[in-house]
Amino acid sequence: MKFNRKLNMGMVGGGPGAFIGDVHRKASRLDGGIELVAGAFDINPRKSKQMGRELGLNPRRVYRNYEEMIERELKLPVGERIDFVSITTPNNWHFPIAKDFLNAGFHVMCEKPMTINVKEAKALQTLVKKSRKVFGLMHNYTGYPMVKLARDLARGGELGKIRKIVVQYPQGWLATALERTGQMQAAWRTDPKQSGGAGCMGDIGTHAENLSEYITGLKITHICADLTIFVKGRRLDDDGNCLLRFNNGARGVLHASQVSIGEENNLAIWVYGEEKGLEWHQERPNYLYVKVPDGPLQVWRRGNDYVAARSPAAGRATRLPSGHPEAFFEAFANNYCNFADTIRAKITRTKPDPLALDFPNVNDGVRGMCFIETVLAGTKSKQKWTAFKKA
Ligand code: NAD
Repeated sequence: MKFNRKLNMGMVGGGPGAFIGDVHRKASRLDGGIELVAGAFDINPRKSKQMGRELGLNPRRVYRNYEEMIERELKLPVGERIDFVSITTPNNWHFPIAKDFLNAGFHVMCEKPMTINVKEAKALQTLVKKSRKVFGLMHNYTGYPMVKLARDLARGGELGKIRKIVVQYPQGWLATALERTGQMQAAWRTDPKQSGGAGCMGDIGTHAENLSEYITGLKITHICADLTIFVKGRRLDDDGNCLLRFNNGARGVLHASQVSIGEENNLAIWVYGEEKGLEWHQERPNYLYVKVPDGPLQVWRRGNDYVAARSPAAGRATRLPSGHPEAFFEAFANNYCNFADTIRAKITRTKPDPLALDFPNVNDGVRGMCFIETVLAGTKSKQKWTAFKKA
């Protein structure tokens, strides 16, 4: 069976003034294989309708809430109804929405952190397995070509046995009590009911955790964690520092902060093996630095044939020739491409290209939630090391 139409996308979240829903909309259509056809865009039904008008959608497919969206989409014939939903709401909604769409037979792309606790994450993992639907988790930093190259170098043995991983994600935008000004993104992120048990560590620490395991293929086994709330009256951590132990004996340092004044999205990672080291920075993502003990610093640059030759996944994730920068939108689009190819293979009952399976999934989501709960437990503990929570 040949697949000869666009995949129909629905969205929950991403209403007027929202941040990441709009990124998903733009990134998912970058390659022309996906079309947004329906949505329940806002917690406020009136604003959902407003968003639908702004996007020029058929008003009959702009819903008051996600329950109505499931009910009414199911009444449409396959091929017209949505194939998958993208969930871009605050964290507390991810689980109930993902669960209901999976149960109704839809594929799901979900924002991170996947749920608000391990219990929900495990339940979702079981449900995804049972439903046989495709589930993507938007750890977008895995979508960068130079991260894929780093992964292929590190896992391919280029660095030698990995000894040390340093990963950081400092931001400065919550250095004051922005949440008390009514700023939407700050308000829910600092509210335990909507954000979950962790603030900064859940919001961006999980990206750092995911990136360290994605690149190295190693698993964190123990954490020595220290979370802090710096801004008076805030209820969730706005800064955190962790020492890490990995399952091959490697050691690591992970820090995440939303009070590091002047920092924007300074996600960066350093991996050191017995033979070489590497370094990648999200704010200059087209370069991967490789360090050798007895020679000059190597700068691998995106878009060159030598990158694709060493990492077919990086080649597949590249659209523009070298020197024309690609970044945030393209990384989201790369995860969407692989997710969509995997859905198409499911629908046509064919085998997906193995490279298409390279997108974060429900198992990464469970790791992320276990990471958060380990860090929360470690912060309270008087023991130096806390074992990584078993799912
Ligand atoms: P936001 O506050 O900008 O937008 C949230 C939107 O969801 C709003 O329009 C709100 O009305 C809507 N909403 C809330 N509950 C809803 C419901 N039940 N049904 C329909 N709509 C609902 O939030 P944001 O900054 O875009 O973050 C959203 C999610 O994306 C969070 O889980 C966050 O962690 C994640 N995120 C990920 C990245 C990334 O790099 N992958 C970046 C930013 C945010």
